[in-house]
Amino acid sequence: MEKDILIIGAGPAGLSTALHLQKLEPSLTGRILILEKAQHPRPKLCAGGLVGDAEVLLERLGLDVCEIPHVDNQVTHFDFAGKGLSVRIPGAHSLRIIRRNEFDAWLAKKTLERGIEIRQGVTVLKILPDADGVSVETDSGSFRARLVVGADGSNGVVRRAILPHEPIYTARLLEVLAPPRPNAHHLNQDAYFDFSPVPLGIAGYTWDFPTSVEGQPMRCWGIYDANILSSGPRAPLKETLAAEMARCGYSLDELELKGHPIRWFDPFLRISAPRVLLAGDAAGADPLFGEGISIALGYGRLAAREIIQAFKNNRFDLSGYRRRVRFSPLGQTLFARWVIAYLIYSFQWKWFQVLLWRFLQPIVILVAWVFVLNWGRRLR
Ligand SMILES: Cc1cc2nc3c(=O)[nH]c(=O)nc-3n(C[C@H](O)[C@H](O)[C@H](O)COP(=O)(O)OP(=O)(O)OC[C@H]3O[C@@H](n4cnc5c(N)ncnc54)[C@H](O)[C@@H]3O)c2cc1C
Repeated sequence: MEKDILIIGAGPAGLSTALHLQKLEPSLTGRILILEKAQHPRPKLCAGGLVGDAEVLLERLGLDVCEIPHVDNQVTHFDFAGKGLSVRIPGAHSLRIIRRNEFDAWLAKKTLERGIEIRQGVTVLKILPDADGVSVETDSGSFRARLVVGADGSNGVVRRAILPHEPIYTARLLEVLAPPRPNAHHLNQDAYFDFSPVPLGIAGYTWDFPTSVEGQPMRCWGIYDANILSSGPRAPLKETLAAEMARCGYSLDELELKGHPIRWFDPFLRISAPRVLLAGDAAGADPLFGEGISIALGYGRLAAREIIQAFKNNRFDLSGYRRRVRFSPLGQTLFARWVIAYLIYSFQWKWFQVLLWRFLQPIVILVAWVFVLNWGRRLR
């Protein structure tokens, strides 16, 4: 089967690419096909924390995420060993938490309603770009396209096919859902990040978010290790998470722990090849927090602009895509987060982390506000 644009993966990056193409160049709508190996609503391991930039990007697509179940948390804590900085945004929530099976299925439904075709249950096995197009082999037959978007996540096949020799940087994550415990300090709707794993050699934090699973209030716990510092001894992730949960009265032994990597952004890595470009985790998410939903939505907008230009000029080398991303507000936040991640996770001394989260609060808030957040509105 032949299509002009094949998008591999119907997660936030692939669906955002399609929705932006439809919005910015409606004549391309019927020329897009999305291939997805799962069936929505599909499970996706993720804490589901949406920052304001994700909501801004969705609003600009005419989408209101309040249509699906969500938990709005008012205060987000950035702590070291249970004490630190509390962030509250006057008149707004600080984080909106969704379940990814519901969010992605909702986004896919909106995409279908706008006339874009999605084939689910189709696994892409091989990508073979040539001078005239790209051949895509799947478990349901072969496809041919003029251009392919690899939005197939951190473990996807597209990056491996087009950039087999590029290094890959991945964070390690573990996540677990737990019923809220009576009398626990976090029975409220607050979200917690705790950086006490850093002195143990883990470049990251534990998290504890409120969430709602099929109408039941739950807590989503997890641990993030950016894996930035590959040398030196590191505490095991599971035991470190178990110790933090025990401090709040939980026993990890009674719960089902799951793991998944996140491929993160590095400014020196390529994100396209002739006729194929990458978006979302396939291109690289945030190394600082492993935040990737708003980032995937942002990549979708930039990928759509690159594709529209390629079709207008009838040139498919896509060599300007990395520059387009790197110098966009999305690229600037990713670059800033990459620098900050190396800085704050390299200083593993306990006193540095205490100083950062408990005493340098105005500086941390200013840096976060200017360099980390608020890029969505500026993304063209
Ligand atoms: C434990 C954990 C917690 C997280 N918590 C947060 C959070 O709170 N907030 C946040 O912003 N981010 C979070 N993230 C990151 C976030 O989940 C990702 O960055 C985001 O899902 C990236 O979206 P994507 O569309 O690029 O990839 P994905 O969401 O992974 O979508 C890729 C899609 O491609 C499909 N696919 C893959 N291979 C193929 C193939 N061969 N053929 C066809 N289809 C294929 C998959 O089925 C999938 O639907 C978390 C990640 C993890 C692992």
